[in-house]
Amino acid sequence: MWRVGHGKSIKAWEDKWIPSSGPMVFRNEVAWELNITQVLDLLEENGGRWKRNMVELLCWPPTATTILSIPLPMQPREDCFFWLETINGCYSVKTGYYFIRKKQMEENASTSSTPSLSHAQWTKLWKAEVVPRCRETVWRACLGLLPVKDVLHCRGVVQDPCCPCCPGVPETIHHALFFCPIAKLVLFGSPLAIRVDVECSVQQFLSHFLAAANLEVAGILFTLFYALWQVHNELVYNGREAIVAQVLQRAVALPPSLVLQQDAPPAGRNLQSSWRKPVAGLFKVNFDASMKDSHDAGLGFIARNSHGEVLAAATMVTGPVQNPVLAEALAFRWALGLAAELGLQRVWFESDFLALVQAWERHDSGFSHLYTVVRDCRLLLSNFDAFEFSFVRRTGNCAADALARLAFHFGCIVWIEEDPLEVSSIIQDDVIASMASS
Ligand SMILES: [Zn+2]
Repeated sequence: MWRVGHGKSIKAWEDKWIPSSGPMVFRNEVAWELNITQVLDLLEENGGRWKRNMVELLCWPPTATTILSIPLPMQPREDCFFWLETINGCYSVKTGYYFIRKKQMEENASTSSTPSLSHAQWTKLWKAEVVPRCRETVWRACLGLLPVKDVLHCRGVVQDPCCPCCPGVPETIHHALFFCPIAKLVLFGSPLAIRVDVECSVQQFLSHFLAAANLEVAGILFTLFYALWQVHNELVYNGREAIVAQVLQRAVALPPSLVLQQDAPPAGRNLQSSWRKPVAGLFKVNFDASMKDSHDAGLGFIARNSHGEVLAAATMVTGPVQNPVLAEALAFRWALGLAAELGLQRVWFESDFLALVQAWERHDSGFSHLYTVVRDCRLLLSNFDAFEFSFVRRTGNCAADALARLAFHFGCIVWIEEDPLEVSSIIQDDVIASMASS
């Protein structure tokens, strides 16, 4: 598919440039009226930004979100093609094979009398009484877009396709939401007392379920699925196992909007790796991204000197972002720009996201959306006299991580020579840890 650069080469209606396998819905009369033919027509004059209002006017909300999540280069550059199934966008035979296999499976599923959701059912899905991110999770699950390990494995992102709870069992979307032991317990223990015995897809299940359910019941189901998805992420990314009673309490007893505020930042589990001060004359910038919401990302930035004193801290919220790697890359681009604006010339950047550090270190020029941003980052290097970029464990990146989470609360703010109260104790701990390790 196309990677958007200046957008001149891409025909808005014929070419494949929107990264979604789901239905794309446009308002044709708007497109006609505004005379939109190329992707260029959807970009701001100087590049670097989508014409957000126009995109939102033109498309159904999920389609608009997908388009707005496509990262744009800071300066217009050539449009190019990339392969959607690898991180760097370069074709590989292995991923080609998986792609064909996946397509075949989808075709088999659709010919074996899979009732795809009817128009009325999609409408119900979008109207269910529930906070938007729960609905989004279900919508993604329906379209096979939920990044479970089997899906990530097929894209070459992770080595192991198996469920973290069930050795040897590939973690497909329907496994994670229906058949994993915890999913079974949660669904059956819920007020809906659902038991899914037959192997079926999310779409099949929902088309039966939504045919009978009212909007409120649909809302409860979606909240359960969302809670299960949170449990899954807690386990995969933070190693925290869930207790069924707690999941149910979170999903059902509380109003849906409160469920989300329950995710406390993870406590520093091991202190194997801690923050270290830079040598004199060098500044250390830690940054991080947090994707608490299903599409916007919060970004955090903190720059400190060789005494561990804070020069600047900042938070910012992006528009829609496709996935965590891209969120982290956007955080890097933003951190580089901010460090340059602050006049820091000798800087050591740190991220706790290994995939980004690896993409950076490989020095290859990929073609995927990730590399739109990575290439911008390389261009920004000319601002610095000395530059280093390295990986640190999450425990060494707590301040940036906390700021990224706080971004949803603060919005876009820069603190100069001070820091928000909420991270003061982390900063002190970092200094102490740094003294202990040196
Ligand atoms: Zn499982």
